Amino acid sequence: MFARLSASLSISTVLLVSGCVGSADAQHEAEETSGFEEAYQQVELGKQDVGGCSGVLLPDSSGFNRRVALTFDDGPNPATTPRVLDILKAHGIHATFFINGQRVNNAASRAVLRRILNEGHILANHSQQHLNLKTLSGAALRAQVDQTNQIIVTAGGTPEYFRFPFGSASCEGMSYVRDQGYRVTGWHIDSADWCYAASSDGSYCAPRTFQYVEDRYRRDMVAGTIAQIERKNGGVVLFHDIHRSTADKLDAIITELETKGFSFVGVDDEAAFPRLNGAQPARAPFIGDPCSSSVQCNFTYNGREGVCHLASSTGAPVTQGFCTLECEGTCPDLAGRAPTFCTSLDEGESGSCVAKAAPQFP
Ligand SMILES: [Zn+2]
Repeated sequence: MFARLSASLSISTVLLVSGCVGSADAQHEAEETSGFEEAYQQVELGKQDVGGCSGVLLPDSSGFNRRVALTFDDGPNPATTPRVLDILKAHGIHATFFINGQRVNNAASRAVLRRILNEGHILANHSQQHLNLKTLSGAALRAQVDQTNQIIVTAGGTPEYFRFPFGSASCEGMSYVRDQGYRVTGWHIDSADWCYAASSDGSYCAPRTFQYVEDRYRRDMVAGTIAQIERKNGGVVLFHDIHRSTADKLDAIITELETKGFSFVGVDDEAAFPRLNGAQPARAPFIGDPCSSSVQCNFTYNGREGVCHLASSTGAPVTQGFCTLECEGTCPDLAGRAPTFCTSLDEGESGSCVAKAAPQFP
């Protein structure tokens, strides 16, 4: 009932009156449904123009090594962002806040920006009004970027990271944002927290609100988010600090990730996200690479983990070996690397993948 009554209020009015954005703004919810689903459909369809102009995809897609970057969009909200900041502080985590400039409209919201910077987080640009930037061009598009850019500078931040609302970008928008020196930052893991926040108690994400949530996680945002992070072995995670229900669940998510051995980095971490940050990615380990322990053979194929093969043919102990993978008949190949084949290295039953020695692959 409350959601229906409040639907006619503007976002900023609701913010000022109650801070209850999640359930209160049905129009915003409908925009999120269509905006996110459109951007996701494009990625799924692999549309031609999506590769370089997608606001969802990131240039780094693997190799996170259990590193996670938490990101929070659509704030600041003086009613909920400070709770998110308290939780991050308690865990010693530095995150990234993609703000909408129009929310910085009073002393309380400016104080939240100062706190974000003082506590070592990254203040980033999510446009002025959270419009679908794909539908804008020229001066209107530029104003959406520039106004929030100015707010970040005025607050004492360094504008460096930009995220398109809903991940919805045109190639024109993409090149303008990049020309301003921004690194366009999508996400790997979508908590879909806005969808859960749209239910009366913040615990249910309905299929009609957002289809891109697995049915088994419709009532469990914490498990759904952690399952995605596990699957990708880390990455950039999307949240919205404007929702009370997100703040309610954040500590549980972080605590479980800590238990599972994940560490937390900023989106500016070059080791975790080298391409995003303009650095040369480290060469991924693969079959045939020299190694002294299996830690150096950090790759997986069909659920099998790379291991370091150290045994010598004479049985004498060795300290230098090569990365291999247990196999039954076939082994994976990787572009630019020597082809591999499955062979029996020891007397045992199972095979091991080895790289063929070829002149072009020393
Ligand atoms: Zn947003």
